[in-house]
Amino acid sequence: MHFVFITGGVASSLGKGIASASLATLLKSRKFKVRIRKLDPYLNVDPGTMSPYQHGEVYVTDDGAETDLDLGHYERFTNQSAKKSDSISSGKIYSNVLNKERKGEYLGATIQVIPHVTNEIKNFMNSDLNNEDIIIYEIGGTVGDIESLPFLEAIRQIRNDKNISSALIHMTYIPYLSSAGELKTKPTQHSVKELLNAGIQPDIIMCRSERTIDKDSISKISLFCNVKKDSVIPALNAKSIYEVPSLYSKYKLDETLLKHLNYNPRKYPLNLKPWNKLILKINSLKKVVNIGVVGKYTNLKDSYKSLNEALIHGGIENSSKVEIKWINAEKINKKNVKDKLYNCDGVLVPGGFGVRGIGGKIEAIRYARENNLPYFGICLGMQLAVIEIARNVLRIKNANSSEFNSKSKSVVGLMTEWVQNNTIIKRNINSDKGGTMRLGSYKAKLKKNSKVFSIYKKNIISERHRHRYEVNEKFISKFNKKGYIFSGMSPDGILPEVLESNNHPWFIGVQFHPELKSRPLTPHPLFVSFIKSCLK
Ligand code: GLN
Repeated sequence: MHFVFITGGVASSLGKGIASASLATLLKSRKFKVRIRKLDPYLNVDPGTMSPYQHGEVYVTDDGAETDLDLGHYERFTNQSAKKSDSISSGKIYSNVLNKERKGEYLGATIQVIPHVTNEIKNFMNSDLNNEDIIIYEIGGTVGDIESLPFLEAIRQIRNDKNISSALIHMTYIPYLSSAGELKTKPTQHSVKELLNAGIQPDIIMCRSERTIDKDSISKISLFCNVKKDSVIPALNAKSIYEVPSLYSKYKLDETLLKHLNYNPRKYPLNLKPWNKLILKINSLKKVVNIGVVGKYTNLKDSYKSLNEALIHGGIENSSKVEIKWINAEKINKKNVKDKLYNCDGVLVPGGFGVRGIGGKIEAIRYARENNLPYFGICLGMQLAVIEIARNVLRIKNANSSEFNSKSKSVVGLMTEWVQNNTIIKRNINSDKGGTMRLGSYKAKLKKNSKVFSIYKKNIISERHRHRYEVNEKFISKFNKKGYIFSGMSPDGILPEVLESNNHPWFIGVQFHPELKSRPLTPHPLFVSFIKSCLK
């Protein structure tokens, strides 16, 4: 088993997540058993309560962990389900250490960053391993930040451990100074010095750059940073993120790494056929389809990362480029909704929390419903479709979700009890906000002859959830009578999972998040079908 660490220097947002995912793709395409795990330096115990506006989307795994969005990249590229144990934050590490201290596990010793915190980090790295050939550990943040120091120290210690063969890849940024007409390697040199201060010599340096990196710059980095020339790998921009694996392979990232790990790359030939086919498809999209996404975090695309990708996947499958029009729900009202949705071939209301922007979303849903515009509601988007139909079709004037108004007619309400792994879980209004949702994969049963059944082509599906509220089953028959069918239910028949309209070309709401399971090589059927209907 080998450990590969990926750190970042010079600047944040270099795309370390995509780099890690791409490297894993290359190794997997050479038939290695790979796994990627993420260590984040922030002190939140998990990303579940972090604002997607600051930190990007919260990605949910099958086993119900609320994780960093990079795990989404890992899954999309490797087509492997990530696990709860694939991500950890400093906050969680410290909380584990403090819990142990309270339990008396340190026998009264003074608790220190070294060795107690670093041991906890090493415990994480060594835990829950399943005979993988290569495990990639992506270290969040930028080298030089105070928060990442304990991680670097743990890596130093683990690399010193004779039993583990490892490599460290440091990703930096090479800026271009137009006044000098040159690429500048000094920030990279400084960043590597930071690593050396922590006692770590990188094996491979990946250089993000907007321009082709000339031989001189490569030589300079090699000389000053003490790595071989062929271990300085240019990491240039790609047209599509799905081109990154083949681009990195062109610069021999996988080969170089394998040599560092004492493998003979020729014995593990690379098969990138499915990816090359995908790139061909991406580069020959013929049509354009405009999707209006009505949400709250519309000025930071990262807060809807998986959704963005799932729409693109659905588009590729339909030979179409998806143009997403991010529409701020707070700016929509009854009067301007038509203008706001002008030119949209379909409308999507994604997941969300809180009352802000609800009115605008409901107006958008109503417009789509009344004008036969394809509508896709995800989680909150389904709940709001239920509210909209209850108000405007069933004429229940004060229909609402108890999330927004506890005194209204709750067509959507707080779920206070459910069964998970054979134990009853209870919640109430006063429960903590962190870690108190229906999270992770749950099965749903689809009605034969329904639209959603014809899309999935199966009876039982399994999708990921992240919500506190549920559609109130008491209203099901009222909806049925008007042609709005709950065509997917939890296997016990209690929780509505899918809503669809019989009077509309494509009007579907789902209580789960299908976008989390869409992959470029295996796009999600709901997104493929939605885009197809938007093209009509
Ligand atoms: N706020 C809603 C709930 O908690 C919807 C959540 C979501 O869209 N993920 O049930």
